[in-house]
Amino acid sequence: MSSDSSRVLILGAGGVGRVVAHKCAQQPEVFGDIVLASRNEEKCRRIADELGGGLRTAQVDADRPEEVEALLRRERPDLLLHVALPYQDLTLMEACLATGVPYLDTANYEPPETARFEYSWQWAYEDRFREAGLMALLGCGFDPGVTNAYTAWLAKHDFDRIEELDILDANAGDHGLPFATNFNPEINIREVTAPCRHYEDGEWVETPALSTAESFDFPDGIGPLRIYRMYHEELESLARHLPGLRRAQFWMTFSDNYLKHLEVLENVGMTRIDPVEYEGREVIPLQFLKAVLPDPGDLGARTRGRTCIGVIARGKKGGEPRRVYLYNLCRHEDCYEEVGSQAISYTTGVPAMAGAKMMLTGQWSGAGVFNVEQLDPDPFLAELERSGLPRHRVELPL
Ligand code: NDP
Repeated sequence: MSSDSSRVLILGAGGVGRVVAHKCAQQPEVFGDIVLASRNEEKCRRIADELGGGLRTAQVDADRPEEVEALLRRERPDLLLHVALPYQDLTLMEACLATGVPYLDTANYEPPETARFEYSWQWAYEDRFREAGLMALLGCGFDPGVTNAYTAWLAKHDFDRIEELDILDANAGDHGLPFATNFNPEINIREVTAPCRHYEDGEWVETPALSTAESFDFPDGIGPLRIYRMYHEELESLARHLPGLRRAQFWMTFSDNYLKHLEVLENVGMTRIDPVEYEGREVIPLQFLKAVLPDPGDLGARTRGRTCIGVIARGKKGGEPRRVYLYNLCRHEDCYEEVGSQAISYTTGVPAMAGAKMMLTGQWSGAGVFNVEQLDPDPFLAELERSGLPRHRVELPL
């Protein structure tokens, strides 16, 4: 490890963890020493083998604070890059405070027993991180993450004031399986089946899950796809940090096939997150469902097509109204060829690496708890451009 490079501890060896490990290993001048830790160390070793060594592995249960603290004290990393599950966010933030290690994650905390997505639990750590002189960066994947940075970039370069924001997440890819989720099935299904909330005139408006749909003509030949409005965590932080924002909505594409399967699974009770007694033991149906569904980390070899994720902002520049679309296109096959993963893991893992690089090189700094839109988008988006996630900008009719 050179004197300028850093030691990073990556926690979680799933689909996203694999991408983060590959992308960090591509920049040894920044990430000179990489430790990949997860509940199952064998998964870490497999990734280390893919990389031909040069990456150390460790076993840790991130639900056990004492284990995480012991690992952090042993390894003394310059950053904990958390890509395990959102349930562990608070345990890991506590462990970082106890050991003086900066923190980064890609998904906001949610309690296992309720699918409730909000930043309140993590924002409550603001004073403690500030007093400790440590930075915690929340939600640095694609959405949240790059979508926050796209919004910050538009606010900085393209608008005097953004009034309306639509975040659009399209997966125009196909894995050829009857039903599979693109990232952790438990987290994905909790998110999709939760009631929709969007921001309008200072209020949160709640509507039933997936009850509002439109068609949107996606760029570069992808064409029209059905988009469904749903709640997504970056809406909360953007509504808080973007002055003048009147409306913010999040939209995602789903195939008819995905929705048909989801409806049946919901109707038969398989998406429940409360415990059910079965043969003398408690089983959580959604956790059992995760165990029988395909592992998203294994979908890479069979997924074809592209993702298109971006932000449409409407507002004013120099008194003139305008509407601008900033987006990324990413091909599943290209991601697989580069790092052995499909584009959903890739588009999450690359920004996590880029955010970590911003922190480790001092391009992003500060003490406290931050969301991505609070930091300068320029060096981050330049890094994404170099690391495989270029952006495109078009002006749309008003
Ligand atoms: P996976 O389920 O594929 O991977 C999760 C990894 O975390 C697995 O290696 C798992 O280990 C490990 N893990 C789970 N619990 C623990 C624990 N208690 N202690 C240690 N390790 C644990 O998920 P993904 O890689 O698909 O997603 C990772 C994260 O990225 C999630 O938080 C997800 O919400 C987030 N995400 C964010 C996106 C964004 O754009 N912001 C988009 C997509 C995902 P094991 O194999 O033993 O289960």
